[in-house]
Amino acid sequence: MIISILTLFPDMFTGPFHTSIIKRSQEKGIVVIKLANIRDFATDNYGSVDDHPYGGGVGMILRVDVVDRALEHTKALCKRSSCKAILLDPQGIPYTQEIARKLSKLNHLILICGHYEGVDERIRNLVDEEISIGDYVLTGGEIPAMVVVDSVIRLLPGVLKEGVTSSESFSFQHPPSHLQVPFLEYPQYTRPEIYKGMNVPEVLLSGNHKDITQWRNQQSRLKTQKRRPDLLR
Ligand code: SAM
Repeated sequence: MIISILTLFPDMFTGPFHTSIIKRSQEKGIVVIKLANIRDFATDNYGSVDDHPYGGGVGMILRVDVVDRALEHTKALCKRSSCKAILLDPQGIPYTQEIARKLSKLNHLILICGHYEGVDERIRNLVDEEISIGDYVLTGGEIPAMVVVDSVIRLLPGVLKEGVTSSESFSFQHPPSHLQVPFLEYPQYTRPEIYKGMNVPEVLLSGNHKDITQWRNQQSRLKTQKRRPDLLR
């Protein structure tokens, strides 16, 4: 998979993309991450990428012509492959595990990070989708892009051990597969067996895999009912 990120601050990605699973999946060749600096697509000598809003108001707006050039340049890599351009934006559709699953099936994912006071409204016409990572406003689209990249990469075949993601929270495969409900994951424990008077549930020490699976399925349902009843609706 190729993930292209159009940003004004490519340096922001250095730490997160050179650590842990994202680093390893690039080394294994499972994903290629390309960072494009939007400023490289400015046309004037000052490298201008933003301007004042028409009609007045505070802040600067990311220019449509500059983003369009950066996007067209990046889309040239999309030939003969499934490709989607996504604008990170607080006004976009709320990001979910289901969207991450869909994005992980693409050959090429393009993420556009806004900045400043926001983007020229016409940029919305240049993309396939707009995604928000939550109902709050961040300074730029870089952290949202990292969220999307991380959640997509861990779903790619070969990145994690087989079966890991299918029992995780918001996964449809678990526990009773006939119910299309994204349950939360069951409680997990590791050593020590007793800590400050808190015991690991007896069933997990029993060695009886049938009972363990049954307990986990039940806990998964109870946890979802208690913490996220909205998922069951
Ligand atoms: N003025 C805009 C508004 O009120 O909708 C907010 C602009 S925000 C300060 C600047 C950029 O940060 C946005 O263009 C977007 O790329 C990114 N951003 C901020 N919050 C975000 C969120 N919750 N989800 C995705 N992107 C976000």
